[in-house]
Amino acid sequence: MKQFTAIAGTFDYLKSLKDQGLTIGFVPTMGALHEGHLALVRRSTSENDLTVSSIFVNPIQFNNPEDLVKYPRTLSKDLSLLEDARCDIVFTPAADEMYPGGEPGTLSHDFGMLDQVMEGKFRPGHFNGVAVVVKKLFEIVQPTRAYFGKKDFQQLVVIRHMVEKLELPVEIIPCETVREPDGLAMSSRNTRLTKEQRAIAPVIFQVLLEVRKNAGKVPVDTLKQWAIKKMEEMPGFQIEYFEIGGAENLMPVEQWHQTDYPMAFVAVFLGDVRLIDNIELFS
Ligand code: AMP
Repeated sequence: MKQFTAIAGTFDYLKSLKDQGLTIGFVPTMGALHEGHLALVRRSTSENDLTVSSIFVNPIQFNNPEDLVKYPRTLSKDLSLLEDARCDIVFTPAADEMYPGGEPGTLSHDFGMLDQVMEGKFRPGHFNGVAVVVKKLFEIVQPTRAYFGKKDFQQLVVIRHMVEKLELPVEIIPCETVREPDGLAMSSRNTRLTKEQRAIAPVIFQVLLEVRKNAGKVPVDTLKQWAIKKMEEMPGFQIEYFEIGGAENLMPVEQWHQTDYPMAFVAVFLGDVRLIDNIELFS
């Protein structure tokens, strides 16, 4: 596996490969890799001639400075996991390589309502930071396909929207959420949970499964209130939002008939660790 830290070297190397007609699969990450990330890498290696991953803890997508400081960083382990997953190239830029002089530039992209609800509402500026970095990474890597997890479903929808609007020449491939055996969605942030918090964290997915069982049968608001109550009964759980909305546009619904593809979305704090999850309700 080749490692690059400079934009110019990465761009030139990948361009020469693309010019030879090779397909490039791209998996952008913030590191602290787990099976969820590696499933994306493996899918990419099975569908492309070359797989590129990036590891960059993007400062401009953190609305909470403490979250940025505490974000886990495990570079040498990540490199060996990527090597084992047969990733071909890893790009690990420093922040001043991506944002010289600390200036991220702006992306005057109108996401409509997509970044006004849920993650967008509770993490102001987050999706702009994501869009700026992903667009820049796409320019550097010039991927044929890029792989994103449904775990961050809103991010996936926001990126798809950006790619369509800006007519970027890349195919966005959504990948299923990878879970621990007890149902907890894998996340780099899980390593920050205490033993006690880790033990009760699977309740998030258990509640989502119960919601799915009752979807379409119980009124939307009744089900939402039930889910919130169930989670808030757990010691140390603090719900930031629990929403039922359409997969097409993420808009919250009040009646089941308002969407063909309802999903439930949740963000919850366990202590100071913020976890998100979601589930497709009519699948
Ligand atoms: P991150 O490093 O958290 O920015 O995530 C990098 C990519 O991995 C994003 O596309 C995430 O949606 C995806 N990802 C993170 N956790 C999971 C998971 N448990 N299952 C599937 N994909 C995931």
